[in-house]
Formats: sequence, C-alpha cells, structure tokens
Amino acid sequence: MSLSGSLLRSCGVLFFSFGCNTAAIAVQEPSGIDWASRFGVLLVDAEEAPLLIKTLPARRVAVREDGIVIRVSAAEAKARRKRGYRYLTDPPFKYIDPEIEDRLSSADPAVWWAGYKDEELVERIIRNLAQNYPEHTTLFEIGRTHRNRPILALRLASGLRPELRPAFLFNGGHHGNEPLSIEYALDVARTLLSATPARGNAAALSIPSAEARTYLKYMAEFQIWIVPLVNPDGLHTFWNHSQLAGRRNGRAQGVDLNRNYPFYWNSGIRGASSDAPGSVFYRGPAPGSEPETRAMMRLADERRFVVSLSYHTFATKVLVPYTTSGAMTSVPVTGWRFGSELVSAGRSNRPDKEYKAVRNLYPVDGTDQDWLAHAFGTLAFIVEGSYQTPDFPTGGRASIEGMRGLSLRSLSLYAEGPTIQVTVLDPSGLPARARVRRLDQAVMEGEAHETQARTGRFDFVLDGPGETVIQAVHLGREGFRAQTKVSCRSGICPVTIRLTGAMDPDQWVAQ
Ligand SMILES: [Zn+2]
Repeated sequence: MSLSGSLLRSCGVLFFSFGCNTAAIAVQEPSGIDWASRFGVLLVDAEEAPLLIKTLPARRVAVREDGIVIRVSAAEAKARRKRGYRYLTDPPFKYIDPEIEDRLSSADPAVWWAGYKDEELVERIIRNLAQNYPEHTTLFEIGRTHRNRPILALRLASGLRPELRPAFLFNGGHHGNEPLSIEYALDVARTLLSATPARGNAAALSIPSAEARTYLKYMAEFQIWIVPLVNPDGLHTFWNHSQLAGRRNGRAQGVDLNRNYPFYWNSGIRGASSDAPGSVFYRGPAPGSEPETRAMMRLADERRFVVSLSYHTFATKVLVPYTTSGAMTSVPVTGWRFGSELVSAGRSNRPDKEYKAVRNLYPVDGTDQDWLAHAFGTLAFIVEGSYQTPDFPTGGRASIEGMRGLSLRSLSLYAEGPTIQVTVLDPSGLPARARVRRLDQAVMEGEAHETQARTGRFDFVLDGPGETVIQAVHLGREGFRAQTKVSCRSGICPVTIRLTGAMDPDQWVAQ
C-alpha cells in the first residue's frame, strides 16, 4: 500500500510544508519504503486479544493499563478501525519492530547489529567497537543532549598524531525518526574496521585484501569521524512514544536540529523552517541554540572537516551545497563534481529510483551542511538514503549495502584529487592561522576560510584539473601575507605558503 494520507514519516518529503505539520500532501511511494506502512496498531480489550491473536496474523506488542496493543496488517487495521476498534495513529516504533526487546536483552553484539537500534544499542555498539579496536579507534563524548544523554563520536585512525591529518565526518540521526541514517554511519565504521585483524567484531564483513589495504591506508592517513546519532533524545522518543515527535530533539517542544545551524537561520524563506514550537520544522529560539547542534559545531571547529556526509532518509538524493534557497555558491563552483561522483558510487537498491545529485528538495534553512560549507569550506553533503525505515532484513540491509560505496567514495575522491593541500607557515616557520582564498573565485556569501591553527592547513578540492592562485593573510598580523600560483592535475598537491613580514602590500611575495 502507499503512504498516501499517512502522517509525516520523513524529513518532509511527503509534505509540502509552510512551517507547520498539518499541510500533508499525498505522495505515492511504493510499498516497503517504510516498514510502518505495512502494519496497523490496535488497542483491544484483554478478553478479546487472545482470540484475535489466534485467528489473525496478529502480534501482541504491549500490555498497557488501557488494553492490549496488537500489531496487525495495515488492511486489517483499516477494516477494524471502521468497525470502531481503537487505533493508534502514531504508534511508537517498538510496536512496529518489537524485536528491539530481544536485541536489548542480548549480550551478544551480533544480535545488536541485526536490526534497527535505539539510543542504548547505538551506544553499546560504539563502545564495543572502541573496545575491540583500540589501535584504530578512539571514543569521544562530544556533548550531552537536552535530556543529558551522551552524544558519542568514534574516531577511526591508526598511528600517531591523527589530529594533524585531513578529517572526514560521517553523521546520522539528526532526525531521530530516521534510524536508517544511523545505520549508514555505523556501516562506514564497521566496513573500515573489518579491514583490520579481527578482534571479535560481531559485524565484521569479509573484505577483499586489496580493499582492506586501502581502508588501512585511509585510517593511517586520515582521521575519520563517525557520529552515528546526533539526536539520541529524538531516537528514544521515536521508539518509545511517537514516530512523528522523534524527528526533533529533547527540548519540551522539540527542535528540528537540521534547521538550527546558524547559516541562513530563520532566513525568511517561505516554508524553510518554523518559529512555532510544536512544528516539526521548529528551528529553535536562536541559531545554534541546541546542545546537540553546538556539540557538532564545536567538533567541526576543532577538526575542520574536508568532507562531511550527513545522512538522512529517504529522498534517494545527494544535496550539493548550498541547499538553502537564495544562498549563492562561490564561483567557480566546487562540489558538483564531487557530489556527482558520490552518486555514481551509490546504489539505491530500489527498483524505481536511483541516487541523484540535486541542490535541494524543498525550502530549507539552518542546515548542518550549509553551515559547514560556509564556515569551513567543507565539502558537505546531505545524503538522503533510499528508503525511510524499511523492513530491516530486506530493504534495510539492501539500502545500507547500497550506501556503502557512496560513503567510501568520499575518501577516495579526496585522495584522487585534484586536491590542493595548503600549509601556511609564519615567517618563523610555524603553522599559521591565516585567512586563505582562491583569487580566481568570487566569494558570494562572505565566506572567510581559515587554516587550522594546529596545522596551518586548508584544503581546496578542485572541480577538475587546473590552476589557481591562493592568497594567505595572517590573522592578527595582516602585514604577513603571501600568494602563490598552484596547478594541480590530480591527486593531492601539497603547497607550502610561507608568510613574509613585508608590511607593505606591494611587497607581497609570490612563492
Ligand atoms: Zn532528516
């Protein structure tokens, strides 16, 4: 059956929103896109429940004070609803996927991996990976949620001083009602770690040796950050209270975290976000007001990601920045080649739709993607997976496997270049915090990108082979500056720019 007439089940793909959660439009989607669409949930009297369970394909999923909760087929539920049965319009997801209880009660990590995860299982899995792969992972708590749950990050990197290397971010679960997005992020960790000598990783994949070598190299040369669950409070709500409300964070009225980032926050663009607490697109009281948003912003400021994939469900698209309507991208534009290559590496595993790179799906503002692109020049993509929350063993696994190539392609694309890896040194030869820009690029949104203080580095991933002129200006002592012409055809082209102490701009030295 289709989802027509159903409640909001996605980022808004099923909705044409004007900032409220009532303007539903029916969008025909094939059955199986969302597991919940196959079922209906009824609340029946204790006396009647055994008979129904015996005679119908029905499953008892909860015992409550007001009755027994049973899961039946969507058609059965519809028919009984007409006959006056009590029907739950927005059941918690644990009524759709009651096996979550088995996963929670198991001590075996292989069982935890075998279905969708709630916030507790995500935490167990991350801690388990950190324990099993001490040489390749480090666990970080990057913040706490409104309801004081930890927001955890797993850094994949081997060897010494990974903080000096190019950083990549894979994050999921900004929206707690998109558990498949969490799977995509976790899958990156499990795939890369499967290349290492097995240490009891319950989810280890069989990786051909050539690929294993590549993955080990990524972990030796990069720092790869996995934040599988940005919004643990929302995921808790999704499983235990309401699928709809699970989209937002744990604030009383719930904030849509992917409308809360500062870039174009409250842009005034019609329908992009809402100032109404209670709306599914509520942007929050101020830019970056939410602890979850701030945790991600702090992490990004510290690590200066060169590439970020932010997983959502389920438009089957890669959004290339800026996705905010009205925001202008610097010219020449970078990001389209990268986004298109990502798309080519992904498989939707849906018969009716393949991945596609687009600028946007519908009006938005305050997204993590655009904030990252603007603040740090990150090649930041929102990656909308190919299903909502499909039946895990079939559609779920297929979608996760189809995403894998797309995710890993972000690492190989950076390495294949052309990527100009600029290191700016001050006159004494130490890494410098400097403002860097391409002089051949017209800046449209006041972007002012800086090198990372720790490394003096900033990366320009070009849209194709070519040359450019890079200018670096010391932050604080603007007399120290330099510019240099760089050409890069492929791969990583390292360039060192040494700032000179000339105070007179006419003496800027090209090196
Ligand atoms: Zn989303």
